[in-house]
Amino acid sequence: MKVLDLQCEHGHPFEAWFASEQAFQEQSQNGMLQCPMCGSPSVVKKLSAPRLNLSGARQDSAPEPSDSNAQAASLASAWLALSQRLVANTQDVGERFAEEARKMHYGEIEERAIRGKTTLNEAQALQDEGIAVLPIALPEHLNKPLH
Ligand SMILES: [Zn+2]
Repeated sequence: MKVLDLQCEHGHPFEAWFASEQAFQEQSQNGMLQCPMCGSPSVVKKLSAPRLNLSGARQDSAPEPSDSNAQAASLASAWLALSQRLVANTQDVGERFAEEARKMHYGEIEERAIRGKTTLNEAQALQDEGIAVLPIALPEHLNKPLH
């Protein structure tokens, strides 16, 4: 069923239920529709934005594209905030990451939070030695060393 906002030639607004858009068109063309206020058979569909949106939402259960965009944007900003905190609280050791992580693990230097670059193989090797490594992709502009 479809509820349509209709309007007669005198501008009287009213609602009517139809099995389909097609049913409305047929009844309208056959003069079976009448304005309940003045009885005029000249009835047209009134354009009603909220009503159109509602019927669209009912027919289509897939999320609106704008919703997923908003979700992606809020995810991206949460990710950026997390990355900024991480950068602020770790020291960038760059290519020496694996070496520094090992030294800390074996007590050669004091423990501290570091970040840096390492290869997948190296990260795997560190983990095999019991060194916790968190693989993380930082936004490029945050990962530049400070001068
Ligand atoms: Zn009317």
